[in-house]
Amino acid sequence: MKSGYINPIYKLSLNDISKAPAKISYSQWSMFEKCPKQWKLSYIDKLAPFTHSIATCFGTAFHETLQEYLTVMYTESVKAANNLDLRDMLLTCMKMEYKKGVQANNGEHFSTPHELAEHLEDGMAILEWFKKRRAQYFSTKNQELVGIEIELAVPASDSNKNVFWYGFIDVVIRDTVLNKIKVIDIKTSTRGWNKYQKSDKLKAAQLVAYKKFFADQFGTPIDNIDIEFFIVKRKLLEESMFPQKRIQLLNPASGSVTRKKVQRSIDSFIEHCFDNDGNKRIDQIYMALAGRGAKNCKWCPFKTDYENCPKENRIRE
Ligand code: SF4
Repeated sequence: MKSGYINPIYKLSLNDISKAPAKISYSQWSMFEKCPKQWKLSYIDKLAPFTHSIATCFGTAFHETLQEYLTVMYTESVKAANNLDLRDMLLTCMKMEYKKGVQANNGEHFSTPHELAEHLEDGMAILEWFKKRRAQYFSTKNQELVGIEIELAVPASDSNKNVFWYGFIDVVIRDTVLNKIKVIDIKTSTRGWNKYQKSDKLKAAQLVAYKKFFADQFGTPIDNIDIEFFIVKRKLLEESMFPQKRIQLLNPASGSVTRKKVQRSIDSFIEHCFDNDGNKRIDQIYMALAGRGAKNCKWCPFKTDYENCPKENRIRE
């Protein structure tokens, strides 16, 4: 689901992205930050291969199901949301995503009925856990839904107005008493984020950037915006001595110092990769940054593509 419910007042500030000469997204920028060569191979040479997996199908389907629950909860009632057939919704979305994936993969299957069923049960376990504790996470008291899958399309840098930041915010809620906005990104994970993922500045930068661009586009004072990762866990630790939560919340630092750092890094990405008209620059050097222990290559689709990314050129630091 792209562009779901949006509060009419906010709808007025939506921009037409088709008029933007160039657009960048968090995934583009973060890819460049890790390895400029991967960005070049993906976005200039357009060589990135098929990347669907059962995890991506589940992720999309889970987002849509939870987002539908929240839409009904805020626009109708909690009761109506609780009466939704979430299993049917999750299963239908998963099947649809899987079908799209198979089509994109030239008809070849990439999962099994067993794996699909396991993900469906995991998803239902999360949703049932969430429904029982829903009020801890989302309340209708003094809170309204600003939107679901809110489209951001706004110039990404003061130094180049032809490159737009483009992305979709999963959920935005407004506290009607404090007039505070909460920008929420839903993450599906197997066991939640560990301490390395929690302290990963590049991961956190997604919401830091969303905060900045939401403020730019909708005119909300930036200090009135909070950010939150809503991380759901498919699996719980077996034999844990303590009760475990299916949902982890993370509120990354997003003060002015952090925001400036993120913006500087976005500015240099744009300066390196785009000319003033928004064209991608093919005259630049895009280094192959494998990183320490080749950690950047681990999930890279060009990992074994030695023709496009020769092993000897990969910089390990
Ligand atoms: S394989 Fe490694 S070095 Fe090459 S593009 Fe991918 S991440 Fe970069």
